[in-house]
Amino acid sequence: MDVVEFPGATILPGFVDAHAHPVWGALEAESGLDLEGAATLDQVCRRVGERLRALPPGEWVTGFNLDVNVFDGEPAGGILEREFPGAPVSLMTNDAHALVVSPRVVEWCGITGREVFDDASRVVVGADGAPTGYLLELQAMDLVLERYPQPPPHVAAAHVARHLRLFAEAGVTGLHAMDFGDPSAAALREIERTGDLPLRVRAAPLVPADSGMDAWRRALDLQGLHGRRWEVAGAKFMLDGTADNGSAWFQHPDCLDENAHPLWRDLDAYRRAVRFFTEHGVPTATHAIGDHAVRFVLDVIGEVGHPERGPHRVEHVESVPDDLLGRFAEVGAVASMQPTHATRMTRADQSDNWSRRLGPERTARGWRIRDLLDAGATVALGSDWPIGHRDPRVTMADAQLRRPVERASVPAVQPDQRISAREAHLGMTRGPAAAAGPGWASGRVAPGRHADLTVLARNPLRLPPEEQATNPVLATVVAGDVIHHT
Ligand SMILES: [Zn+2]
Repeated sequence: MDVVEFPGATILPGFVDAHAHPVWGALEAESGLDLEGAATLDQVCRRVGERLRALPPGEWVTGFNLDVNVFDGEPAGGILEREFPGAPVSLMTNDAHALVVSPRVVEWCGITGREVFDDASRVVVGADGAPTGYLLELQAMDLVLERYPQPPPHVAAAHVARHLRLFAEAGVTGLHAMDFGDPSAAALREIERTGDLPLRVRAAPLVPADSGMDAWRRALDLQGLHGRRWEVAGAKFMLDGTADNGSAWFQHPDCLDENAHPLWRDLDAYRRAVRFFTEHGVPTATHAIGDHAVRFVLDVIGEVGHPERGPHRVEHVESVPDDLLGRFAEVGAVASMQPTHATRMTRADQSDNWSRRLGPERTARGWRIRDLLDAGATVALGSDWPIGHRDPRVTMADAQLRRPVERASVPAVQPDQRISAREAHLGMTRGPAAAAGPGWASGRVAPGRHADLTVLARNPLRLPPEEQATNPVLATVVAGDVIHHT
């Protein structure tokens, strides 16, 4: 037996990111242009221009993390044509629920504006009926995403391996992947062909909105698929879209008369689907951002109960009224929350798109982690990477400060929702373990549990959040396998 010592260090149950997109995130991060920090349209265009000049003529520029706040009104691709005539440019918004594409992309993909989708996805058209280049939600986005240039499988696997390693270096020992699209299985298998994953991955394939039994069976057939450190366990649903795009489902519309409809137009089909998976022993994770969506999921969970394998969970829960807080504990649903969406995509002065759309009352009820904990809910924290910040130390610090940890001058958003260091750490250890059900033997350091550990230089529970975020990770241990970083 090897004995590894870490004198003076603090050894914690391994951090688990309860909501991430490791495969498409890795591919996007490696081949796409990261627009994070581009706060004006000029800055976006400058970065796109630099990328275009570095590429052979005619190649796509695919970007991500586009801040919708750079547009004066509804985003559109016309600006890309003016700046870069004829260039194929496709930029994903920072909530990953929309694309802004240039006219060349519209042409290449044969988009007419007359497309009909199964769900509430939409190709936005102008007064002339022609597409503006703004594509909302997955089925519309897929018209373009399916044509993105794809790296060969071994290159894709190398990208994924590199990003999983970066997670591990930040102290993450497990990820709940909230999708299992291509090439997830191929990439994970390819990595395990020559070595071990640096962390565990538990994936929930997407059940498309308004789908029927055939799609449900396909997602069911994937259950139990696994490698040494990854498995498919769970089904992901998108009951609504995002507040930034106007596609979240709130009880009352926003100031643009949007954000008032579910993505599943056939709500009874959603209810039957959750029942179908429950009866087959599969826990579900439903994306529900708006108050009406959250209410609906909780009602359905209350009706159908939970499979033995693990509880159903609700992803995002961005703004809910008081009467829904206690419902989580009542029906036993896990609240899966992403603190950096609050701290990095909205502003305390409510000048951001999310807050402007929803208005002060619903903004005040944003990301109620404190209130949910006080109401007895199990809260699992995650990053939503690549949409949110990868580093769990940053996610936890932001949750304590309610502002970006590295920017002391930024005022806090909903400061009454601050949580303690201990609560934040439970949210990335025990919370995700509870969300994954009894089969996920992590979340505690105890006999019978996996030896998944995060080794930190100093005890984070005794540090201010700012120092927690830079507390060195000395090692990450997965299944007893020590991955040293220093
Ligand atoms: Zn997500």
